[in-house]
Amino acid sequence: ESPDGQKMLEFRRSLPTYKERDSLLKVISENQVVVISGETGCGKTTQLPQFILECEIEAARGAACSIICTQPRRISAMAVSERVAAERGEQLGESVGYKVRLEGMKSRDTRLLFCTTGILLRRLLVDRNLKGVTHVIIDEIHERGMNEDFLLIVLKDLLPRRPELKLILMSATLNAELFSSYFGGAPTIHIPGFTYPVREHFLENILETTGYRLNSYNQIDDYGQEKVWKMQKQAQTFRKRKSQIASAVEDALEYADFKGYSPRTRESLSCWNPDSIGFNLIEHVLCHIIKNERAGAVLVFMTGWDDINALKEQLQAHPLLGEPSRVLLLACHGSMASSEQRLIFDKPEDGVRKIVLATNMAETSITINDVVFVVDCGKAKETSYDALNNTPCLLPSWISKAAARQRRGRAGRVQPGECYHLYPRCVHDAFADYQMPELLRTPLQSLCLQIKSLQLGSISDFLSKALQPPEPLSVQNAVEYLKIIGALDENENLTVLGRNLSILPVEPKLGKMLILGALFNCLHPVMTVVAGLSVRDPFLMPFDKKDLAESAKAQFSSRDYSDHLALVRAYEGWKDAERQQSGHEYCWRNFLSAQTLRAIDSLKKQFFFLLKDAGLVDNMENCNRWSHDEHLVRAVICSGLFPGICSVVNKEKSIALKTMEDGQVLLHSNSVNAAEPKIPYPWLVFNEKVKVNSVFLRDSTGISDSVLLLFGGNLSEGSLDGHLKMLGGYLEFFMK
Ligand code: ADP
Ligand code: MG
Repeated sequence: ESPDGQKMLEFRRSLPTYKERDSLLKVISENQVVVISGETGCGKTTQLPQFILECEIEAARGAACSIICTQPRRISAMAVSERVAAERGEQLGESVGYKVRLEGMKSRDTRLLFCTTGILLRRLLVDRNLKGVTHVIIDEIHERGMNEDFLLIVLKDLLPRRPELKLILMSATLNAELFSSYFGGAPTIHIPGFTYPVREHFLENILETTGYRLNSYNQIDDYGQEKVWKMQKQAQTFRKRKSQIASAVEDALEYADFKGYSPRTRESLSCWNPDSIGFNLIEHVLCHIIKNERAGAVLVFMTGWDDINALKEQLQAHPLLGEPSRVLLLACHGSMASSEQRLIFDKPEDGVRKIVLATNMAETSITINDVVFVVDCGKAKETSYDALNNTPCLLPSWISKAAARQRRGRAGRVQPGECYHLYPRCVHDAFADYQMPELLRTPLQSLCLQIKSLQLGSISDFLSKALQPPEPLSVQNAVEYLKIIGALDENENLTVLGRNLSILPVEPKLGKMLILGALFNCLHPVMTVVAGLSVRDPFLMPFDKKDLAESAKAQFSSRDYSDHLALVRAYEGWKDAERQQSGHEYCWRNFLSAQTLRAIDSLKKQFFFLLKDAGLVDNMENCNRWSHDEHLVRAVICSGLFPGICSVVNKEKSIALKTMEDGQVLLHSNSVNAAEPKIPYPWLVFNEKVKVNSVFLRDSTGISDSVLLLFGGNLSEGSLDGHLKMLGGYLEFFMK
């Protein structure tokens, strides 16, 4: 053993999971399904799959064993496999490997494969019985992602047919019973972990002890503009329904009297606005921690990239918090580069306080070992959607009690900690116990398509077997949508279009763009748009060089009034630069991520081969490079993104934008259209809305009336009626 290996082994042995090794292996050998729960960081993900592998090797079954361990995020599948290979003193891709969309590292010798849940589902498409697989481990099952819930239904069906297949479910929080009873009372094992006590402070205590005064000004000014606040008020009156939790929170506040607190605190609390995240309050709490308390890293839970960056910008301008010799300010979210990610684990220099602004990724999948203080804004970004409108909307929503407990626990890993919840205790008590499963709050179209292509029978029968079945109305809406776009026929059978859409590893609306792109012979630019929408935005917006980055992006817009077309131009420019060996310099100059562009490139190749297999295109060269006919590309974009649409009215000094569901909306500052004084199109189509304090449209493309009439809606045979009705509804609404 090398000294490094020895140290690693000692570390492994110190983990609570290691102490349970034998009992875990025994229960697994005696049962087909086992549920394992344990505190985050106790070693479930890194140790348990290894135990099984070692045990199989000891029993001389090593060559025959094949363990698949799923992760909800690609970042964790990659990071965990790397860590486990290192613990085993091997190169990644030997006995331990990983596979995520577009990337992978495995060989014929790989016995333990970490993959995303999506990858395992794709495998089920071609291999319904998971031939040769001996163990399936589903990790982070408590997150209740849609893919995980779906996988559970499929596996429950499969287990009787594969009596020797073992299924292990791993969860961080203590709702193990739910999963156990779903599998007819499967045994559950809890790994006892140790955490130091964490003192909790709710908003009323924070105000009382620090004497900080909340007033309406503090709340309004959070996003810098009073305007935004007014818009939000307007938008609110348009919004039709409020989530149950949001109303429960409002009720709780209505009846709270905060007896026993000073009049000053009570007055402050009456100004507290549950709909916004108070940046000034966060700033105040951070100063309080730095000035008064002992050493230790601070973890601040925010909702996403947008508010993390806005907050970071504000903190950097602060005389104390923005002082690099005293504070190391870091961000942790899903789209950061892995080099950036490593900084989070590093210890800062003596006397420097590490402050990490994180999304809920840091709740369970990432463990930062030196955290002593947690600041919890109480919210997380959640996709939700209106049955009426097929565009997903990322909304900050209140977290669950389980998530709040999890966040608090992050402070007690190395010593007793402190947790500052930036909301009153009565609001916490109004939270749901657990987060609502994704299956119950997102559009089901892709899932329904998958059920059909896996030949799992009637969609509603199948989904009624879920752990918590979705509402019949959302199932009906999804089936209806698939019928309208012609993916399913009257009898809910997969059509040719439907089969093609199910082969494409993207949502139906993006798949539809690809197919139309092929038919209209403008596949290349359309593939770029679709790949960009399904990978991530290659335009980097470092907040300290935001102006430069925005003007770099604006150069690609060339009066297109389209973020999607700007992406195509940037991508084409990069391809040309690559041919001249100057791709790197090109990216650097234009604030583009080469890594993302390469991912887009390989996804395009994958699309192409899939479309070729489907007989929709014949040869890569024939399918048209970026042609001058951007109108066609625009139309294809419209056909996919409709009904994600907003009306445009150019005013004297501003542009008024309105969607049917939200009323007034704004353009995201990253959009090329945000800088335009006028937009010469009556409509914009968009893929996604983001709500910070108002509703913002991410990427958008200008659309003319005639394109909307021809391509908005779903022109497939037999659905003309539905198409006209849908369009009629929109036009009527906006003409009013
Ligand atoms: P669980 O799945 O129970 O949350 P893990 O198996 O992910 O726990 O992690 C166990 C321990 O290993 C934690 O203390 C974590 O900090 C550490 N660890 C995990 N991955 C890495 C890594 N890539 N580098 C350093 N330490 C790691
Ligand atoms: Mg884990």
